[in-house]
Amino acid sequence: MKHNPQPPVQRYFYCPKCGGALEYRMHDERQRLTCQSCGYIFYENPIVGVAAIVFNERGEILLGRRNWGDYQGLWCIPCGYLEYDEDVFDGAKREFLEETGLTINIVKLFAVLSNFHDPARHTVGIWFLAEVIAGTPVAGDDLDMVGYFALDNVPPLAFPTDRTVIEMLRQQRDVLSVGSAGSDK
Ligand SMILES: [Zn+2]
Repeated sequence: MKHNPQPPVQRYFYCPKCGGALEYRMHDERQRLTCQSCGYIFYENPIVGVAAIVFNERGEILLGRRNWGDYQGLWCIPCGYLEYDEDVFDGAKREFLEETGLTINIVKLFAVLSNFHDPARHTVGIWFLAEVIAGTPVAGDDLDMVGYFALDNVPPLAFPTDRTVIEMLRQQRDVLSVGSAGSDK
C-alpha cells in the first residue's frame, strides 16, 4: 500500500451516507476521509476510463476533437467513463458508438495506464484495440469532429497518456501491422 501519512487536500466534506462531517483519520497507515458521525470511510479511488483504438485501411488512427471543458479543441483517442454497473468491454463499445457513430468489436487489450493529469479526477485508463463492424464516423457526445490520422502526424492531444499510447503504437506498429503504410521509416 502507498502510504500517505500527511492528509491530502480535502475534496469532499460531507458523508454520503448520513451527511456528517468528513475528516482525515489514520487507518492502516493511510489517511482516509472518515465520517465523524457514523464512522463511514469514504474511499477515494480512481475512476475507470475506457478507450478504443481503431485504424483505417491506411493504418491511420481514429481520433476525436473534444468540444467542451479544459481540453476543448484538443484531440483524444475516443474514450469515456465506465458506468458503475457496466461491463468494461460493453463500456468501451458504448462510448465509442456515442462519440464516433461506429460500432466496434474489441480485439484485445493494448494498454492500462494511470492518469494523474487532473488532480480532481484521477483515473485508470484502459485502451483496447478494436475493429469497426458497422457505421460511418460522425462526431457525437463530447466530440465535435472525428478523423483518421497517421501515427506520425497526430494533431495536438488533450491527454498525456494518449501521447504515451500513440508512442507505444508507433513502436509496435510492425507487430500490429498498422500505421506503416506510406511511412518512409
Ligand atoms: Zn456518516
